[in-house]
Amino acid sequence: MAYVSLLPSVQAFLRQPHGMFLHGCSVSAKGGKLLPVVNPADGQTIAHVGQASGAEVDAVVESSRQGFKSWGLVTPAQRSAVLFNLADLLEAHGEELAQLETLQSGKLINISRAFEVGQAANFLRYYAGWATKITGETITPSIPSFNGERYTAFTLREPVGVVVGIVPWNFSTMIAIWKVASALVTGCSVIIKPSEFTPLTILRIAELAMDAGLPPGVLNVVCGDGSVGKALIDHPGTNKVSFTGSVPTGIAVGASAMQAKLTRATLELGGKNAAGFLPDVSLEKAVSGIIEAGFLHSGQICAAAERFYVHRSQIDPLLDQLVTRLKTLKIGSPLDDTSEFGPVTNAQHQQKLAHYFAQSRAQNNTIVYGGNVIDRPGCYVEPTVILANSASDTLMTEETFGPVATFLPYDDEDELVSLMNDSPYGLSASLWTNDLAKALRMIPEIQVGTLWVNMHTLLDPAVPFGGVKSSGMGREFGGAFIEDFTELKSVMIRY
Ligand code: NAD
Repeated sequence: MAYVSLLPSVQAFLRQPHGMFLHGCSVSAKGGKLLPVVNPADGQTIAHVGQASGAEVDAVVESSRQGFKSWGLVTPAQRSAVLFNLADLLEAHGEELAQLETLQSGKLINISRAFEVGQAANFLRYYAGWATKITGETITPSIPSFNGERYTAFTLREPVGVVVGIVPWNFSTMIAIWKVASALVTGCSVIIKPSEFTPLTILRIAELAMDAGLPPGVLNVVCGDGSVGKALIDHPGTNKVSFTGSVPTGIAVGASAMQAKLTRATLELGGKNAAGFLPDVSLEKAVSGIIEAGFLHSGQICAAAERFYVHRSQIDPLLDQLVTRLKTLKIGSPLDDTSEFGPVTNAQHQQKLAHYFAQSRAQNNTIVYGGNVIDRPGCYVEPTVILANSASDTLMTEETFGPVATFLPYDDEDELVSLMNDSPYGLSASLWTNDLAKALRMIPEIQVGTLWVNMHTLLDPAVPFGGVKSSGMGREFGGAFIEDFTELKSVMIRY
């Protein structure tokens, strides 16, 4: 066992008071309510974070308005340099940030290192390159000239203003960085409201952002529950919300944003993602694919698959092989870097999963493997495989956001496509086959924002990401984010 020893810098950070990052400084919030941050691996409280009061939300927004002005004076090349600096600092402090993240979220330390630090740095560098490439266009107006006068026109891409980035607990650092990077390269300032379960790492990153050369007020962090997020959206001084989280909260956020002042909103929500396996795929490849799609980070990934469709001729041998593989997974402390399966992120979530297990039993699903909370300290649940009876069973329709793979057999490809589309959600899906021609014919039929073929869950900063149907509005990554973080201004000139 390679148990990670906590760095002195992590222990020192945990001891300091936490509340907000306001105008370049870490300050403790005076709102009164203290929210505990609990390590889900052992149930111990590792820190408290002050929830911001209404007056503190006002102060943060005021700082961000000033930050927006000062960031507007910084050239695109300088903005790019700051983001590159921040990426370097994330890596230089990588072990410290990874340990903090693992303590607050229960994420395996290797996943914290690779995604919360490594991928966050990759995203920052990708976006840094965009800072110098955001342009408008010139247009020759179509209207006729009546008296010999002429017209020309052009468009400007202008930053939308102060962005509120609301972040969930599952990848609290990487998702915060998506929002920070999109805002900063387009010339916006940004206020991050992390999840009340996982607020610590982004507070530390905000300190590093000052060392990277970011002016005060351009990145602020304010902590608290959903009411703080709502106060930020409703505030007259904010211009846009970039939200990542669950569908019900996303709908409430979208409604608040529209009611407040037609605040611009990007909504990256959950779903009930499908993976479909054609019978030409070997059982071995299918089993590896299912582990990748459904069990990475205990299934707590918005894009993870939870509905698995396998050809009827293969379902029994495939489930046998899958169970054999899952039995070898080493369940253990997330700070043991040989662990392969850790806790879920909080006790409420563990209870929610226990409720889904009970419901599945009540609907007479076959629990092929797992289906229980693990009897040890912390928020552990078993990796679980379920065979459903029908497409309308709860575990085929509701997002568990846990390590729960539910299977249904199909008989032909038309049925596979219709089952994959049988959901109000459409964030992602994967199709597994060696027959590329078949895959290319099926791709247009599948209703999702991201479709993977022979892979699942790989997010790349160059490839746009977002949901169709009830899985969201808007896109992040690639060039797609520019539309959502800027306003298009048209200028017409007569001469
Ligand atoms: P959640 O919706 O409960 O909370 C997300 C954030 O919203 C938190 O910071 C919370 O404090 C805040 N919030 C709650 N109520 C609010 C309100 N009324 N106004 C403003 N803010 C409010 O989600 P969660 O449980 O933290 O995360 C899990 C969910 O996130 C899953 O459904 C998952 O699929 C989804 N998710 C989606 C993506 C994506 O990119 N599409 C990525 C990760 C997670």
